[in-house]
Amino acid sequence: MPVERTDARGADELHKYYEVYETIGSGGFAKVKLGRHILTGEKVAIKIMDKKDLGDDLPRVKVEIEAMKNLSHQHVCRLYQVIETSTKIYMVLEYCPGGELFDYIIAKDRLSEEETRMFFRQIVSALAYVHSQGYAHRDLKPENLLIDEDQNLKLIDFGLCAKPKGGLGYELMTCCGSPAYAAPELIQGKTYIGSEADVWSMGVLLFALLCGYLPFDDDNCMVLYRKITRGKFDNPRWLSPGSVLLLNQMMQVEPKRRLTVRQLLDHPWVMKDYSSPVEWHSKQPLGHIDEDCITEMAVNMKRSRESTTQLVKEWRYDQTTVTYLLLLSKKQRGKPVRLRPEPPVCDASSCSPLHQGLQPKQALHFSEDEDGVVLGSMEFCSDYIDDYPWVSLSHRSPQGVRGQPDGAANPNNNKNTRLASPSVEKRWGHSPNLERERVTPHRRQERRDREQERTSENKENIAVPEKDVEIFALPPPRTPVTNKKNARPAKNVLTTPTQNVSGTKTNAVTPKGGGSGSKEQSRKRAENKDPGNIEILTFSPERRSRSLDMAGTGDSGQKKRGGKMFGSLERGLDKVITMLTPSKRRGLRDGPRKIKAQYNVTLTSQTNPDQVLNQILSILPEKHVDFTQKGYTLKCRTQGDFGKVTMAFELEVCLLQRPEVVGVRRQRLKGDAWVYKHLVEDILSTSSI
Ligand code: ADP
Repeated sequence: MPVERTDARGADELHKYYEVYETIGSGGFAKVKLGRHILTGEKVAIKIMDKKDLGDDLPRVKVEIEAMKNLSHQHVCRLYQVIETSTKIYMVLEYCPGGELFDYIIAKDRLSEEETRMFFRQIVSALAYVHSQGYAHRDLKPENLLIDEDQNLKLIDFGLCAKPKGGLGYELMTCCGSPAYAAPELIQGKTYIGSEADVWSMGVLLFALLCGYLPFDDDNCMVLYRKITRGKFDNPRWLSPGSVLLLNQMMQVEPKRRLTVRQLLDHPWVMKDYSSPVEWHSKQPLGHIDEDCITEMAVNMKRSRESTTQLVKEWRYDQTTVTYLLLLSKKQRGKPVRLRPEPPVCDASSCSPLHQGLQPKQALHFSEDEDGVVLGSMEFCSDYIDDYPWVSLSHRSPQGVRGQPDGAANPNNNKNTRLASPSVEKRWGHSPNLERERVTPHRRQERRDREQERTSENKENIAVPEKDVEIFALPPPRTPVTNKKNARPAKNVLTTPTQNVSGTKTNAVTPKGGGSGSKEQSRKRAENKDPGNIEILTFSPERRSRSLDMAGTGDSGQKKRGGKMFGSLERGLDKVITMLTPSKRRGLRDGPRKIKAQYNVTLTSQTNPDQVLNQILSILPEKHVDFTQKGYTLKCRTQGDFGKVTMAFELEVCLLQRPEVVGVRRQRLKGDAWVYKHLVEDILSTSSI
């Protein structure tokens, strides 16, 4: 894998070129953090994988990287840079602030046919392109489609993709993908054609968009498989005849009778209200070199245009590649094709752009997380989005982002402005956003208030302000009130959240993907052609939409906990909750954030945020949800056996302006999307807010 291998200096390499912020998602293997590419000022997503944790799955990451290097399309998430160290792999990706399509669907219950069509055309476009490049994706699901700031979908997670040597028409064997989306031929262990299997998954996805639930679903894996193999699903009454027909044509058990992606491009349902078939050709073909970007890079690097072009054309997925691609992205979005000056060459640890102009102590309270990644604080990062609170680091709202000025381009909003030399400021000062920002005295006052609030909270973290540059002092690293310790005996968590909702079954979730034994065993079973063997692959609903390959993963790094400890910790929890009087919480944060109503915000009928917070706090232990509290934000997680985190999400009590009620912002960080949906619905409805 021709990647930048810097071994122990890899993390330095990362921090030399990127500011790294909060975790915005996590998957089977990776943690994804928000970052900012310093030279272009553009936001990026940084996917961080630990090689030790990857184990046998390391090849999968290599597959993903190689595939993404070959794919450049308006509806495929772009890979910008790969940094490999002796212990980690960092993939720098196009940042999609709108979150997962899944969250968008569940927030709306289901989408209208018109909105579904808009998204579906983009999915068809992405898949037609991916197939044209010889790849089958094999893990299509709404969790793997992200929404960018313009409400465009971007396909991610190519870890399970396949590129058959003889072309896409060649048969594949490996049974992978997520059970609920898997085609019948796949789960039957037959050989299959990748593109045909993808069309089936697209049918399941289309159904999920139109209905808000899955066409084939069951807690019991074998029952689910039977349903899929029969291919019978109920069409809810709200589906139009055209939708019913299309779903039926896509979810044909016999692969050869299924529609092809080519047929989907101008299918009557897809064409309704549109004048042209789906455009699937890449608008950003690989190989095209943009002269403006080259010129800007050449000036910045003090090289000739010719040698800069040569360097870019090497496509090494290093600093040159990321800089070129991000400049191009700026140009395509109508932003100035501008770079900040190259940081001076110096020892990365002492002279990273991240720290330039700051004394170590003043360095904006960076902390090192468990990945060895130096983080800017969440609050720090939120400075540039405070004016657009719905675009928080982890708050992902397509509507909110759409049409809003991009904080990234706004030097007034950007801490780096004061870190940069005057000449940099001047160059960046051309941004129209800057002007917009400056003419709003009201905003300025709000900022001063915020600044004051933060100043009083923590003086130590204040960076030295430059004259006339608006900056915000940083909040203290508050000690969160935590109930982390409220771990429960493992048997308590054997009941899945879904079952809590219905209160019906109490299926045991076994530690290793539902009794499938070791990872190796489950993989073998998944590969096994004998459906009889597949039966052993019983999985919990948690795993319904997790990739089959993953069914057996997760037991690495499990921590055994002593039973005795649980009891005392659980008792401790009661105390913590009792102590959480509103006045105490107010000490942590003066009040809840004021935000706009967004798709990921549940409106309550209440006007007292403390009351809402208390109600949620009292319900979480009942639902076996551990949490840490930071002001009005609850970082929640559920644990499986041996303390393995099965789900992580945030709930934030906030104030809405119109209507003036209390809202609860939700965000899933980790875990099965459908189980999350049920659990959060359950928490919010039981909280009677
Ligand atoms: P894994 O390969 O471990 O399954 P994913 O690539 O699916 O990890 O990423 C995990 C999660 O991180 C995603 O579901 C999504 O919520 C978030 N994420 C991934 N890539 C991006 C991105 N480019 N922009 C924003 N969020 C992302």
